[in-house]
Amino acid sequence: MSNTIRTVDIIIVGASLAAAAAAKRLHDAGLETLIIEKQELPRHKICSGILSPRGHRFILENFGPMPQQALHAPTACRGVTFHFPSMVSMSMDFFGGTTPHLHRKYADHWAIKSCGAEVQDQASFIRMQPQGDDQLVTTRKKGGAEVQYKCRYVIGADGPSSPVLRALYPDYPQQIPWFFVGQKFHEIIDCPLDDEYFHFWFHPALGHYTWSHARDGRQIVGVGFKRGDIANYLQDKHGVRLKPADKDHEGCAENFGPSLINRYVFGKGNVLITGQAAGFLNMIGEGMSCALHSGAIAGEAIIESAIHNRELQPLYRAMISTEVRRTTDQWNPLKIAFARPHEADFPAALMALPLKDRLKVLRDIWRFACLYKEFKWGREIMRESIARLRHGYYPGERWL
Ligand SMILES: Cc1cc2nc3c(=O)[nH]c(=O)nc-3n(C[C@H](O)[C@H](O)[C@H](O)COP(=O)(O)OP(=O)(O)OC[C@H]3O[C@@H](n4cnc5c(N)ncnc54)[C@H](O)[C@@H]3O)c2cc1C
Repeated sequence: MSNTIRTVDIIIVGASLAAAAAAKRLHDAGLETLIIEKQELPRHKICSGILSPRGHRFILENFGPMPQQALHAPTACRGVTFHFPSMVSMSMDFFGGTTPHLHRKYADHWAIKSCGAEVQDQASFIRMQPQGDDQLVTTRKKGGAEVQYKCRYVIGADGPSSPVLRALYPDYPQQIPWFFVGQKFHEIIDCPLDDEYFHFWFHPALGHYTWSHARDGRQIVGVGFKRGDIANYLQDKHGVRLKPADKDHEGCAENFGPSLINRYVFGKGNVLITGQAAGFLNMIGEGMSCALHSGAIAGEAIIESAIHNRELQPLYRAMISTEVRRTTDQWNPLKIAFARPHEADFPAALMALPLKDRLKVLRDIWRFACLYKEFKWGREIMRESIARLRHGYYPGERWL
């Protein structure tokens, strides 16, 4: 253990998009901000890289135009195509045009470098303990000794399995369902799926979350929860002919759920949780835009708290409620039916179908939703939707 303890204003754990957004705000405000990342940068991140228009606007406004290296081919995505077991398909373009197809390894690294804060990679968060008004954070450099820092604030921007969150709430991982998400990469023999779109299957026999899209000359076939042989299904039903999966398939655990039922985790005292660690995930698993926005709000809350000497948690919770509204609205059946919470026009695409197909789609969506019955989210979603209707916001009492 090193004897000298360096003091900084803020430690951000994780060098991802939420971290970049938070660090940009804090560094611009003149606060000494240190980002620690367990992997070597630029680091790989399992992700389709489909960015929503809102995420794209955030990046342009805060970091500027992206370098070519930060994009996969095809470099842009036009929107999303939904496929149903009844063989009806519907494509929806993003509002405002195409968005970039991010290569997370380089896009995240570019955003982190652009934020101006100091970054230490290959440095893992190990633990933290309160010391007066500060936190004593212990990290470990890869293959090296533990290093300690004293800081006034900690931000956990460390993704779904968040060690910062687990340090605050050790039992939390046992309290939520976890999903395994994996993707395989296939060379393409023939693929009639339009490569300008992200393709998603509402098919209960294929898994809880099933997608495919083109990337760098190959086709990704992904599934959240392994059920059914998706590659064979794509061949039989869509004429997609792929070679056997290449060896570089990958997977990870996902905390899909908290944003559906308004059960976010925002931290304790001077420790904030943000990004996907806090539970932010938009529909179709788009998590980058809410990671960016929630990260920026975490940074702004700390600045407000430091400048006006106000208690941090109430400030953060008040400020983050706008992002909660945007994210949870996407899952709210009343909003889906009567407002337009998404960034592509699902109701218009549905109404453009012949009546017979519309009915098939609604039936297929219902059958797909039944796949989630075991998580008993239906009643909670309805209760939160009604609370949103009554108050205009989602109540914060359910947040940790
Ligand atoms: C298969 C898949 C496909 C996806 N596709 C899309 C998509 O197309 N579009 C989209 O918007 N979202 C997608 N997502 C979701 C998206 O990747 C996440 O929502 C988003 O990356 C969350 O960002 P974040 O900044 O909160 O954290 P993350 O991107 O998860 O980053 C967390 C960082 O913390 C670091 N870290 C973890 N533990 C420690 C530690 N102990 N010490 C130091 N550092 C640590 C990690 O190494 C990582 O760099 C996908 C996710 C998966 C799994």
